[in-house]
Amino acid sequence: MTNPNPSHKALVPFVSVANMMNLVHHIGLEPMLRGLADEIERDFRRWELFDKTPRVASHSDVGVIELMPTSDGEAYGFKYVNGHPKNTSEGLQTVTAFGLLADVYTGYPTLLTEMTLLTALRTAASSAMAAKFLAPKGATTMAMIGNGAQSEFQTMAMKAIIGLETVRLYDVDSAATEKAARNLHGMGVNVVSCTSAEESMEGAQIITTCTADKQCATILTDNMVGAGVHINAIGGDCPGKTELAPAILHRSDIFVEFPPQTRVEGEIQQLAEDHPVTELWQVINGSAKGRVSDKQITLFDSVGFAIEDFSALRYVKEHIKNTPFFQELDMLADPDDPRDLFGMLKRSK
Ligand code: NAD
Repeated sequence: MTNPNPSHKALVPFVSVANMMNLVHHIGLEPMLRGLADEIERDFRRWELFDKTPRVASHSDVGVIELMPTSDGEAYGFKYVNGHPKNTSEGLQTVTAFGLLADVYTGYPTLLTEMTLLTALRTAASSAMAAKFLAPKGATTMAMIGNGAQSEFQTMAMKAIIGLETVRLYDVDSAATEKAARNLHGMGVNVVSCTSAEESMEGAQIITTCTADKQCATILTDNMVGAGVHINAIGGDCPGKTELAPAILHRSDIFVEFPPQTRVEGEIQQLAEDHPVTELWQVINGSAKGRVSDKQITLFDSVGFAIEDFSALRYVKEHIKNTPFFQELDMLADPDDPRDLFGMLKRSK
């Protein structure tokens, strides 16, 4: 714990959606994705010192609302995030989020920020970081199945971090594929729009599944997946919400974020509780093996873990310094005499 600045100034920097977009444009999308991936990788290397807990999820028939806390002993962060697959049909986002960073020494918040965009960026950066360690060397083509809100971010992170050249898009809703193709036009990747999942996987060394449905769906069946590919499974991230046929899991070497959370939420909820998995942080720090052969199917069973959000929050806190991309929020009552909270109220009348 560091000794905090003893200043009584308790204004909290707040990054709005508009300012998050300003920040992304100011830094540049690809440099920011690389910066986030570096920050996440650094935190995965010091994984053991974090305070870790599976996220706290409140489920309903139509979705989930989750809190994702963690701390490295100096800073504490949490994200509020929802997942409501039915929302898009009502003109709303499936996933929205905001998050907070605080100083462990004082408990005072040090950042409040939108995290809907930041979640898309950090999820994409995490996927590409995992692919850097697990995908076949020189992978240049990715099948992108599910062309919703996350899909362009996933594609651009793979381009920025592992040099992806071609993305093959597929979605059950062709309007989503058209939207993604339009958005990715001129972004430096070849875009191929496909009309089936099978077609999207032709020649792909990486398969990303990023669909949203509150059920155990089968986006990939066993016969669709050939030897040697890397699967980046993003969409299965809740109890009863998966994307892959169990037979694929049995043929794959499976890499996860935090097993106690992934066993409940990830693709591996379909497997026995003791089915072997490797923790991604151990591959990153060299204590476990990643890809060991050309024939191996590697699967990153991503559900999203609090440390990735913590890394993203810290990145934003660092990068808004000396920019106009935040407002200062008066969200913390902080009387000059700490015991005179009532007096502060009385005098304000
Ligand atoms: P979205 O609703 O914007 O997009 C989902 C897309 O999937 C839609 O276009 C839909 O038509 C398509 N789809 C549904 N079923 C399909 C099928 N059988 N085949 C092909 N396409 C299909 O959602 P989003 O914000 O892009 O999120 C996608 C998923 O990723 C969600 O399930 C979300 O919970 C998950 N997610 C995971 C993480 C993580 O860290 N792992 C982070 C963010 C989001």
